[in-house]
Amino acid sequence: MAQEQQVMKWIDEHQDDILGFLQQLIQIPSVNPWFFDEPGPSKEKDVQEFISRKLAGLGAEIEMWEPVADDLKEYEGMAGYYPGRDFTGRPNLAATFGKGTDGKSLLLFGHIDVVMAGSKWTVDPFEGQIIDGKMYGRGTVDMKGGVAAMIMAVEAVLRSGLKLKGPVVVGTVVDEEAGGMGALDFIHHGYRADACILTEPTSLTIAPLCRGILWGKIKIQGRSGHIEMPQADWKDGGAVDAIKKARYILDAFDRLNEEWAVSKTHPYLSIPCQVHVAQLNAGEYPTSFANEAEIVFNAQYLPSERDEKLVGGHVKKELTDFLRAAAEQDPWLSEHLPEIEWMVDADCAETDVAHPFVQTCVQSLQAIGEEGTIEGLGFHTDMGWPVNVGIPTINFGPGDPSLAHHSDEFTPTVEVIQAVKMMAKTILDWCGAEEA
Ligand SMILES: [Zn+2]
Repeated sequence: MAQEQQVMKWIDEHQDDILGFLQQLIQIPSVNPWFFDEPGPSKEKDVQEFISRKLAGLGAEIEMWEPVADDLKEYEGMAGYYPGRDFTGRPNLAATFGKGTDGKSLLLFGHIDVVMAGSKWTVDPFEGQIIDGKMYGRGTVDMKGGVAAMIMAVEAVLRSGLKLKGPVVVGTVVDEEAGGMGALDFIHHGYRADACILTEPTSLTIAPLCRGILWGKIKIQGRSGHIEMPQADWKDGGAVDAIKKARYILDAFDRLNEEWAVSKTHPYLSIPCQVHVAQLNAGEYPTSFANEAEIVFNAQYLPSERDEKLVGGHVKKELTDFLRAAAEQDPWLSEHLPEIEWMVDADCAETDVAHPFVQTCVQSLQAIGEEGTIEGLGFHTDMGWPVNVGIPTINFGPGDPSLAHHSDEFTPTVEVIQAVKMMAKTILDWCGAEEA
């Protein structure tokens, strides 16, 4: 029997084992400790030990280590570096198969932390219950579904009586949901490959890029005063409505967004980059003009807009200059210039779709009956660091990313199985295999 048929047959016959393995991952609640509202300690280490036992049992060479923030100081100002972050009891894991073989190598990469469960679940978020062909649970989408699929893809190849012609590294990292320092540390640790699949959820499409994300907060000053009384001109001490001034800035952002809708597009993204306002906070009493207004926004940027540190410095400057120019047109704001406090800069990256690995992945998907759609991700993933060190990387995984972080997060079980097949086929085609 041809290798591919052997492996696909193994996967078809072991669907329960594949889904059972994913359930076991879901049942270890590896909530990122940054989400301190969640009771109990992080279980990231428990997941890593569980995965490492599984992979060691398949013959992998295992390395597990805790990141040390001080060892990463050289990345100051770059994506994923957070000074002083504590990784005690929070190890990264690398499992290498086929070490020393000379075929092309592949890194299968994912994070094992999840966000807190939150409220409004109708099922147990840490059980992995299957109802009508959908597995429910925190992480089924983001991204234990992908992690389980990549591990089971390796198992499928090896259990089909094959051995690899090129190395496969399974890398699972901590701390993606609070900044991506686990991925930075993994790459700093030295793991490299000729290609990488980051198994974030993509609904089984191939995503060769993700967008960078900036969060910013703008504080707009006003001057409170009795809302029902006549007010003098502000120059004579009268009240200034901070909400009205915020509206002035919001109108300016609307005009900027019209420009960005044309200028900040990408052929593999269905939406342009925009400045979206996520929160508005203003006012204290029903009888007073707001003393202060706060706008919290989310702005996205393209890989082509990255600065010399491979993050969003240019776009930050663009927005800072824009805000200043808008404020200077308003007499009050020009004397009370609002500033942007930057909260998050999550990086992005892109792999050329013409790269042979992207084509290999498209063909793998088509071979298992999928269309092989290429589509970029609007949100941030950990793909930046692999790409930064020259590893062609795609995002590919089961589950609809819009369900990530939701209550009743679920992934269709058929997508998990299809993801296993796609990655097993990619291992065969990219790394190569022979009779063991
Ligand atoms: Zn994720």
